[in-house]
Amino acid sequence: MAGDDEDVAPEMIVWPLERLARLVRSREHDDGLNPAQWEALRYLNRANGYSNSPGALTQYLRATKGTISQTVMALERKGFITKTERIGQKRSVSLMLTPRGRDALTRDPWKHLAEGVGSLGGKTRRRLAKGLKELLASEIARGQVKSFGLCASCRFFREKGRSADPAGPHQCMLLDVPLSKSDSQRICIEHEPA
Ligand code: SF4
Repeated sequence: MAGDDEDVAPEMIVWPLERLARLVRSREHDDGLNPAQWEALRYLNRANGYSNSPGALTQYLRATKGTISQTVMALERKGFITKTERIGQKRSVSLMLTPRGRDALTRDPWKHLAEGVGSLGGKTRRRLAKGLKELLASEIARGQVKSFGLCASCRFFREKGRSADPAGPHQCMLLDVPLSKSDSQRICIEHEPA
């Protein structure tokens, strides 16, 4: 009888991954958005305040500057994001979700897949999470691209490093700034795995 740990051909993991992504992406034409615009909204919803620029979005999505520029312009025109100059940094732009952008994300087609994942058993979820994390890390290393990982998993993150600071309690040792609990759960362009 096949055991729980019976060997599985790599293709039996890769093919469903590809098909799943294709099926979900085929639903990314709702709310007047296209797949690239959905990806940008999801990124901006997760990125920290140092990573919500068009340049960071370009690196995250591995797209061309021209594509990202068009995506940003379309999202701004449709009222999903705002584009403002960073205080004290004339040539740096900050992209923020509007209430309309946040509302669209409540209907994100990937949420259906997340619900499906939620209905899997805890052991399966833990194994899937571990395996996907390892695969992602290996692809990031192979492509020599930025990790864009969670702040709390960064080598510059110091837990409770600014416990007395109202903007803390954590600290970024690279940028020397306080980090809130919410900041610690965001992704960052400067992230380096611990
Ligand atoms: S600790 Fe790392 S991930 Fe967090 S803000 Fe600093 S550089 Fe970015």
